[in-house]
Amino acid sequence: MSEHFDLLAVGGGSGGLATARRAARHGARAAVIESARLGGTCVNVGCVPKKVMWNAAHTMDALRRAGDYGIQAGAPRLDWPVLKSRRDAYIERLNGIYARNLGKDAVTVFQGHGRFAGPAELEVDGQRITADHIVIATGGKPVWPRIPGAELGIDSDGFFELATQPRRVAVVGAGYIAVELAGVLAGLGSDVSLVVRRDGPLRGFDALLQEGLVEALPQGGVNLINRFTPSAVRGEPGRLSLHAEDGRSLDDLDAVIWAIGRHANTDGLGLEATGVVVNERGDIPVDAWQNTNVSGIYALGDITGQIPLTPVAIAAGRRLSDRLFGGMTERKLDYENVPTVVFSHPPIGTVGLTEAEAREQFGDAVQVFSTAFVAMDYALGEHKPRTRMKLVTVGAEQRVVGVHVIGTGADEMLQGFAVAVRMGASKADFDNTVAIHPTSAEELVTMV
Ligand code: FAD
Ligand code: NDP
Repeated sequence: MSEHFDLLAVGGGSGGLATARRAARHGARAAVIESARLGGTCVNVGCVPKKVMWNAAHTMDALRRAGDYGIQAGAPRLDWPVLKSRRDAYIERLNGIYARNLGKDAVTVFQGHGRFAGPAELEVDGQRITADHIVIATGGKPVWPRIPGAELGIDSDGFFELATQPRRVAVVGAGYIAVELAGVLAGLGSDVSLVVRRDGPLRGFDALLQEGLVEALPQGGVNLINRFTPSAVRGEPGRLSLHAEDGRSLDDLDAVIWAIGRHANTDGLGLEATGVVVNERGDIPVDAWQNTNVSGIYALGDITGQIPLTPVAIAAGRRLSDRLFGGMTERKLDYENVPTVVFSHPPIGTVGLTEAEAREQFGDAVQVFSTAFVAMDYALGEHKPRTRMKLVTVGAEQRVVGVHVIGTGADEMLQGFAVAVRMGASKADFDNTVAIHPTSAEELVTMV
């Protein structure tokens, strides 16, 4: 006996849940298969616990700087196990909320590993499920290096399992996760090295952001080590050495954290029973409508290799269900101008083209405005970190095609500016908007 649905999402993470719930709201019979905890990477081992840790580091920083304002707060001391148990409890509450919301929307949940038995059929623990439309949203998983002793390290999932605070850590990688975890750990008082194999982190981000981050890392207590290609990990847990190809080593480490990228998760999915192709990176390629090469099978979120961010997976899923069940035949996600924040210390907010990308596309038609200043938050202290901002414009009308900010508040600043960029705002539109004073954000509408 098999159970039949209008829509079946494989993976109960950001994308799968959004797709199924929106389908159900349009009146479709929808189901989700999830092998682990509801909410996927973002809720359980990604955005949410990461932001809790970032908030904790931010609070520690505020306490350390309280004296600048004449506040005697004393030296802050973190109780890691308390933080972890409160964070875990919060996530458990979220898991429950997700389950209840699915119940309210009448989405059926199959708990277990889903495996295709054919192009319109999956098997979960011996049970057969068929559907008219099947959405693959199985996300990604951390990449591990293939070097001797790699298994002595941990990945970002392992970071969230740490029961005690590592005293001395090497975070290996140059992307979002490496930068964020290094910053959080240093902010919480660990001795952190950020180990990068080339000449700095966040390659691909605007040069102003890279420069700002390289300046901010040591100020935040992170020791940036460039041109270090790991060749081996030796020792025992709690006393590890990370060795480089050139003979250098980092010794006496409690933890080595691998943050060198993520890979599409098609493990045991049985794609061979469907004819769905994967590309050379292991991602499932899709067209603009999230269609795979097999009719009736769609893919979205991290599994597609398209901008791996939670709101992107959610937006793609909701639009797909609007199209399939809501009569909105033209509805699809526009992957241009997706804003994003790196929760570094201070945070980075960015939307649109970098200066280099704009110059490549538009040549001399590009004009750039930038500024650097000390945010007022730091006015009374000795420590004077600089906030940096850049607007990238194109053409005589100075259409703003990129906004890049590193500094306190950048994380909350960018959402509204992303609306402006999306609407095609010009520099004059920015300038004609009355500033909010005293803020850092006002600099974006007063740049000359
Ligand atoms: P996922 O959320 O990964 O969900 C996939 C689900 O499918 C998982 O629950 C998995 O258990 C399940 N699954 C896999 N295979 C099967 C199977 N065969 N059968 C049944 N179930 C299966 N993004 C942001 O926007 N902001 C952030 O601040 C942010 N921080 C992050 C921090 C970290 C440390 C990490 C790792 C990621 C972060 N991300 C962030 C990225 C974000 O988590 C992902 O882009 C997002 O979760 C992708 O959603 P998804 O639905 O594609 O996949
Ligand atoms: P990324 O792809 O962002 O970065 C990984 C980087 O690690 C690579 O760019 C590369 O940089 C470096 N690297 C790759 N292989 C090796 C190696 N063998 N040794 C040393 N360094 C290596 O991956 P992440 O895992 O950081 O994050 C995955 C995605 O998750 C992100 O792209 C982002 O979309 C999402 N995410 C979003 C967050 C947010 O929104 N705040 C937070 C966390 C994740 P190089 O080539 O320069 O060496």
